[in-house]
Amino acid sequence: KAIGIDTGGTLTKVAYLDEHNELILTTFPSNDLQTVKDWILNNPDIEDIGVTGGRTEQLLNVIKKMKSIHYIVEFEATIKGVRFLLKKEGHHFDRSMITNIGTGTSIHYMEGNSDIRVGGTGVGGGTLIGLSALTTGITDYNAIREMAAEGNREDIDLRVRDIYQGMDTPIDGHLTASNFGKVGITEDIRHQPEDIIATVQGLVGEVITTLSIQYAEEKNAQHIVYIGSTLSNNEHLMNVIANYTRTKKHTPVFINDHGFSGAVGALLNI
Ligand code: ATP
Ligand code: MG
Repeated sequence: KAIGIDTGGTLTKVAYLDEHNELILTTFPSNDLQTVKDWILNNPDIEDIGVTGGRTEQLLNVIKKMKSIHYIVEFEATIKGVRFLLKKEGHHFDRSMITNIGTGTSIHYMEGNSDIRVGGTGVGGGTLIGLSALTTGITDYNAIREMAAEGNREDIDLRVRDIYQGMDTPIDGHLTASNFGKVGITEDIRHQPEDIIATVQGLVGEVITTLSIQYAEEKNAQHIVYIGSTLSNNEHLMNVIANYTRTKKHTPVFINDHGFSGAVGALLNI
């Protein structure tokens, strides 16, 4: 049997085909690589392992003596996997941006059979957890995404229309003029943790979207495919991203299994 493993900064993603040729996807925390190693060593039917991701070396020190290892660079694996998943879900774009929101964020441009990493930002899923933890004490991803869905950004973010009170706004009044900008103006620093976390997600989503759109305009690409585990069950963040992308006249695309592009690409590389 063959498996693909993407050992990322936060999560280790595994992909393989079961006996019915169905794609099976699982995750482990990357700070517990011993569990992943044990799982591999306890499955003697695994012969070939496709590996990718920044923490690959830490995973391999024991395993490489016992299995056949096929390494692929992270960005290459991501694009290979994303091409496969897009096709599987019936998408076809001549030109598109791929924005991978992992612990950090990487942005790629894909055209026909070629692709290039155009840039990125340190604002990503790690920022979401880090800022949420520092401002509310909550560190669990699932708690964070659930609380964000309950929160309201209205009293913390400053929108364009809040500045242009009673006047016509020079740009869409709903756009954020300043993330967290109302706090300094109202001098009200007491807010519900749900509202703070929703606002953190707004910041993260809007920075990533704004940057993606700038590259999309430079490359003349209409569609932006957003992937990465930061989107996992996170409807609030997907809404922030989708709305902001549409407001700026581009088309957001989300795919199922968005967190597993790298692992699928590593599997395909065997
Ligand atoms: P990178 O590609 O930057 O090295 P990565 O591959 O580990 O990192 P992803 O797995 O795509 O990144 O996404 C990690 C992010 O997903 C986390 O920062 C967090 O916001 C979110 N996340 C989703 N599920 C979990 C989970 N079970 N535990 C921790 N974080 C999670
Ligand atoms: Mg990753």
